[in-house]
Amino acid sequence: MDMIFEKKLAIPMEVKEMYPISAADSQIVDRREAELRRIFTGESDKFLLVIGPCSADNEDSVIDYITRLRTVQEKVADKIFIVPRIYTGKPRTTGDGYKGMVHQPDPSEKPDLFKGIIAIRKLHMRALRETGFSCAEEMLYPENHKYLDDLLAYVAIGARSVENQQHRLTASGLGIPVGMKNPTSGDLEVMMNAITAAQHRHTFIYRGWQAHSMGNPLAHAILRGYVNKQGHSMPNYHYEDLAHLWELYEQRGLQNPAAIIDTNHANSGKQYLEQIRIAKEILHNRRYNPNIASLVKGLMIESYIEDGAQKIGEGCYGKSITDPCLGWEKTERLILDIADEL
Ligand code: PEP
Ligand code: MN
Repeated sequence: MDMIFEKKLAIPMEVKEMYPISAADSQIVDRREAELRRIFTGESDKFLLVIGPCSADNEDSVIDYITRLRTVQEKVADKIFIVPRIYTGKPRTTGDGYKGMVHQPDPSEKPDLFKGIIAIRKLHMRALRETGFSCAEEMLYPENHKYLDDLLAYVAIGARSVENQQHRLTASGLGIPVGMKNPTSGDLEVMMNAITAAQHRHTFIYRGWQAHSMGNPLAHAILRGYVNKQGHSMPNYHYEDLAHLWELYEQRGLQNPAAIIDTNHANSGKQYLEQIRIAKEILHNRRYNPNIASLVKGLMIESYIEDGAQKIGEGCYGKSITDPCLGWEKTERLILDIADEL
């Protein structure tokens, strides 16, 4: 085998023993889990914003950003439920480039997965302790989910993973909402199949165990746009797309029909400032059509402290080193505008 096994890593139980969640923080996670569940079952009509940087590259700037979100959350608490994005594992289109904090706790240094696992657990714990937010992650590596499962509010399965069986089966065993992104090709059947798989029970191998999942009725759709055969970004957040998704849900008979619309990625063509217009268009379409209002539970927005993106090593505090993000002032304005328009 052409692979060197460098280091045996601590298992999730051991890492949780080293860095345990406090009883008080665990109660916060449970309360937020219950409120988020009510949003997805339709008992609450609060609007969900899964919002934050494309990648959580630096503990201090991420905590700074999430602390600012907390202040805005207080202002809009009657209408909006915020789940910050802390994305510590990044899928890469060609496999090259920064793969997230779990690989590289310091983006300018070599990968160190042991340090990475500790760093991501500490970051989520710090966010929870200092801001009272349980956060969202992409479940890029299903086997790693248990390093964080006691801390998370929301999980997304990325566009490059959504057709993968292990992702789908693991999602079927989670007790929190799991958003299935449409694949980069835009084929909505792949996404609907992923939701169907995640809503059902399965027996499978997980971390060396025969495991049995209960099915996750909170598995739902995320529309993120797609790339066509010519390599151009194509949106799928328009009125017709949302009406079509409603029909697909009707045909499938799935539980809790729900969608989150990702305003960046192929929906904006990574023109991150367009996220403002896209968010407002979606709110307009919700007001126009009650089916769309009940389907679209919220938005996923890429946002950080500074506008745009930079290369690793440029060292601008709070500026994305992966996809370009909306900066803080525009983000705050947008959240307050969304609350006004709901
Ligand atoms: C992301 O949310 O940053 C991301 C990588 O999304 P997608 O899987 O849609 O490309
Ligand atoms: Mn991104």
